Amino acid sequence: MQAQDVKILIVDDDEISRIGCERILEVSDYKVDLAENGLDGLEKIKSSDYDLVVTDLMMPKMGGMEFLQEIRKVDEKIVPIVITGYATIENAVDAVKMGAYDYLAKPFTPDEFRTKVERALEKRRLLLETEQLRQERDKNMLEHSIEKSRTLTIVNCMSEGVIATNTAGQILLMNPAAVKMLRLKHHNVIGKKVTGLLSNTDLEEKISAALKKVTSCEILERFEVTTGEGRVLQPNITPIINEKGECIGTVAVLIDVTEEKKIEKMKADFLNLVSHELKAPLGAIEGYLNIILDGVTAGQPEKEKSFISKSRDRAHELLDLVNDLLDLTRAERKISAKVMSPVDVNTVLMDTFEFYKNEAKTKSINYTIDLTAALPKIRGNREELSRLFANLVSNAIKYTPAKGQVLITTESNEKQIYIAIKDTGIGMSKEDAAKVFDEFYRAGNAVAKKISGTGLGLAIAKKIVEEHNGYIEVESELEKGSTFTVILPVIIDSTKKNN
Ligand code: ADP
Repeated sequence: MQAQDVKILIVDDDEISRIGCERILEVSDYKVDLAENGLDGLEKIKSSDYDLVVTDLMMPKMGGMEFLQEIRKVDEKIVPIVITGYATIENAVDAVKMGAYDYLAKPFTPDEFRTKVERALEKRRLLLETEQLRQERDKNMLEHSIEKSRTLTIVNCMSEGVIATNTAGQILLMNPAAVKMLRLKHHNVIGKKVTGLLSNTDLEEKISAALKKVTSCEILERFEVTTGEGRVLQPNITPIINEKGECIGTVAVLIDVTEEKKIEKMKADFLNLVSHELKAPLGAIEGYLNIILDGVTAGQPEKEKSFISKSRDRAHELLDLVNDLLDLTRAERKISAKVMSPVDVNTVLMDTFEFYKNEAKTKSINYTIDLTAALPKIRGNREELSRLFANLVSNAIKYTPAKGQVLITTESNEKQIYIAIKDTGIGMSKEDAAKVFDEFYRAGNAVAKKISGTGLGLAIAKKIVEEHNGYIEVESELEKGSTFTVILPVIIDSTKKNN
């Protein structure tokens, strides 16, 4: 605090004393204001900032004691000094009680006065410094708590699970995603050890072993754990290092890689399919052609014809597979990219029925269609729906032995339409029925009976149905037959009143 920045108010009804004090202080370059009594002084400290107030006690209008009391109400950091011609011990004690910092009896020498003022200014400096420190501390505490709650909010919103532990393996933090991923038995986990907490012992052992390794700075290999619900988690565990470079705990980030694993499996299935399903028929075709070209069948037209026809059948199988794979990728494209419009499903079914008439006739299948009149329209993609029904009807014919029956029906209520494709074919077991909509899955009896197929048609059908916000189900009994039912939502007529 520079002398020229210091502002002092002198309050005294005695003009000589007032001016005397002013002169002494102005020598030191302080800014000085004057007031004749307490009331006048009070007005001044309300309208301006003072560091010190020097006040007399006995004054008209408002005396020094009352003035001291009022100063505290306006600003507690103003330091008051009392000067009085009526110096008694009682007066001094009362003045200090009212908040005076120092007391000086009149008459006094300039030096005595200056010393008192300088001490009071030192007090003022300390008060201001303390106040500044307090404000800084409050600001830091506020910033710290804002920062803490911001970090916590971010961690709590993360889709990855986060678990922080100390070196004793006790949990310091666990976000809701981790609680959900680990299906924790207890919710209040802070302070508990990881061991004994998780519902999966394998997971528990792997995580606590990894935590220990990291705390002792051992290299950690990447690992995966599978939860009870079959979800695959990939924990990424790293040490928490403090400013001194010591390891004070670990933080584990759990990433749910179940979907990635599914895709990996699909890729593996696909490679498997390419190596078996594509290679085998191609190899067979090549074999038959080599036999013919090598002249082994020369002069045996019947044998030659049989080899050529076998080659054609295998080529046909390959074509089916390639077409199914193309359909699958087409079905995987989002419906938003496809044209959706009101569709009368009965007309699509009639076209499908017509298309397979010949095939059914060749197998002497009793092939019929029984559509409900006035089927409500649905919102859909005609081409995709046609592909869906073609898959179901061709399967029904393919898996129904000669002289069996295939029936296509439709029904509806206000909200949904039901399309059923019923056959009296080979059927399938309950276990197979639960899996036939999976990609590349073929039921055991179909494979055993050597009925050719790719295991992709129903996976395509399911994707198309789901893109139309519907669902597909199968009811089947071995050697009795199957019914595939597609349920699709109708277009709600918003002009109709709800009754
Ligand atoms: P695929 O090309 O093998 O017919 P799909 O995905 O269309 O492939 O069908 C999957 C499996 O479901 C078939 O391999 C077959 O085992 C079984 N399946 C499908 N439709 C029928 C049906 N109508 N009757 C009996 N089994 C069927």
